[in-house]
Amino acid sequence: MAPAPPEADDAHWMGLALAQAREAAAAGEVPVGAVVVKDGALLATGRNSPVATHDPSAHAEVNALRAAAAALGNYRLDGCTLYVTLEPCAMCSGAMLHARLARVVYGAADPRTGAAGSVVDLFAQPLLNHHTRVSTGVAAEACAALLQDFFRGRRQAAREGAQPLRDDALRTPEARFDAWRDALPPMTTVADLPSLAGWRMAFVDTRPDAPDAPVLLALHGWGQWSLLFRHLLPLLPDWRVLVPDLVGFGRSDKPKRGAVHTPAWHAQVLREWLERLEVRELRVVHHPDSGLLAEALRQHGTPVVTAAWPIELGRAEADTQRAWQAPFPDRGHEAARRALGARGVSKDDLGADAAARLARRLAPASSGPMGYFRA
Ligand SMILES: [Zn+2]
Repeated sequence: MAPAPPEADDAHWMGLALAQAREAAAAGEVPVGAVVVKDGALLATGRNSPVATHDPSAHAEVNALRAAAAALGNYRLDGCTLYVTLEPCAMCSGAMLHARLARVVYGAADPRTGAAGSVVDLFAQPLLNHHTRVSTGVAAEACAALLQDFFRGRRQAAREGAQPLRDDALRTPEARFDAWRDALPPMTTVADLPSLAGWRMAFVDTRPDAPDAPVLLALHGWGQWSLLFRHLLPLLPDWRVLVPDLVGFGRSDKPKRGAVHTPAWHAQVLREWLERLEVRELRVVHHPDSGLLAEALRQHGTPVVTAAWPIELGRAEADTQRAWQAPFPDRGHEAARRALGARGVSKDDLGADAAARLARRLAPASSGPMGYFRA
């Protein structure tokens, strides 16, 4: 059975279902929300609540169907439409068929348990169903994004739990980075290097699966974090770009003692980390602040630094300046920034145009195995 086309008010009602889903997320439940509509009027709402109610059947749709039936004083929901942010499961689809629901509209498809076409299609069984029409894809991206954000946050929390924080360090709450989470690839962390001894360093590795790709190390300065290179990363698909949040900055742990934060120690951390990643040769682009680190890496000789270039700095927008301040909720978190001599919030940024010029300068390395040059 082909899905029925969307109707005029579908987006409006799905917006209300999304609001229910957000409430579920706020309560720690998987964010799925539903509303039941009859004759152009809202009849009932429901959100996912199996955790809080200790009830495996407390899906958004079942909760909304119960509320709608109570409002009508009838278990049959003739003429009603249910809007739900996620494709209904078999249980909920069954409940809708029992209720003789006129129509169901869902947002995101659910490839794991969807029973309206993804895994099975209960609504297409002629012996089961004579009633319920199905429409799909209304606000599908917003509905899916809500679920993705929720599960990403849960994975992050699980990783945090798995990486205990040393007593002599602070860790910025993850939520302070939420506004910029989509600007970078997912973060990886390392804590078991000799020089780190349990302090966690966060980094972006754009191609962990490509050990033979040319390697670019991108170093922020004493007032930014890996977000500084957000415009550059998408321009270098052939490169393995490594962007650490230096310890004491960004999403990395922040040792409270300023004395640890010498350029020599940071360079040692970077060397051990690059060795762990089996990097043998690399180029470096860096904020002028961290030129010291690039030079220390180059002098050490392994891995081999074939070129090191300072980036072209522009002025950070207000929103970006907020990002530079996000890792430092209070003075206690700022030991590294102070020890390395930075004052106040950084106003530096690598703008989109400067990133494009830098990417063009790097381009010869990706043009072929013989294409790279030594600076
Ligand atoms: Zn369900």
